[in-house]
Amino acid sequence: MKKFFAILMAFVMVLSLTAVFVGCTTNDGAEDTTAAGTAAGTDADTAAGTENDAAEKPVLKMGTNAYFQPYEFYEGDKIVGIDAEIAAAIAEKLGMTLEIVDMEFDSILTAVNEGSVDFGMAGMTITEDRLLEVDFSISYANGVQAIIVKNDSPITCADDLYAEGANYKVGVQLGTTGDIYATDDFGSENVTTYSNGNEAILALLGGSVDCVIIDNEPAKALVSANAGLKILDTAYANEDYAICVKKGNTELLDKIDAAILELTEDGTIAGIIANYIK
Ligand code: GLN
Repeated sequence: MKKFFAILMAFVMVLSLTAVFVGCTTNDGAEDTTAAGTAAGTDADTAAGTENDAAEKPVLKMGTNAYFQPYEFYEGDKIVGIDAEIAAAIAEKLGMTLEIVDMEFDSILTAVNEGSVDFGMAGMTITEDRLLEVDFSISYANGVQAIIVKNDSPITCADDLYAEGANYKVGVQLGTTGDIYATDDFGSENVTTYSNGNEAILALLGGSVDCVIIDNEPAKALVSANAGLKILDTAYANEDYAICVKKGNTELLDKIDAAILELTEDGTIAGIIANYIK
């Protein structure tokens, strides 16, 4: 009986070791639990080169705010744009399938840190404060903060915003660098935050703010979609866009950096950007 028990125990141990082994291999390449469900039990097949590769690749989840043309925006129910395409190219290099999750811009860092997405990519500027919360990849694009006003606005250049007694009301997208800089410069009492650029533009058209400070490319899209608005010539700030990952996730960050480097060197990123920014 004792012997039978020992054999049984050995059998159970082998079984559980196998389970642990399978658990490790199936999660290989998936950086956190978000991809694990999809990856589980499929890597062995993928490695063996069976058909249906695309369906069986582990998932790489990107958090974004898809109201930021031309970097991320909806075409029907699909999220497209510069970031979406660069991210898809990165995922392909990593042998993974990209899944894009739309959320408030302000929620992206939390989602990255909680692991509900693997990385954040949203025309996101590298800032010192954000670097305290997440790690950033090398930069893949430059951004400029622009000021949008109504055509007949008394604001004709950035300096007008700082003029003695000016007291202009500024609209921004919550949590963006436009929000951070404007709050610093003009005080939170003069800055109204909106969850995306469209909402800020509606407020400008409706007269509740005097200008909107937002990144230049989405500014161009917003101005061409809404009559009676213009972008001031003065650039408010120059910035670098990058991808963010959970602090300390160097394994994923190194892979993303290597992919960005290759996609920069072979001209893929420049080609994608040129397709959207003429
Ligand atoms: N570049 C700005 C930032 O990082 C805005 C990004 C965005 O609105 N998607 O804050």
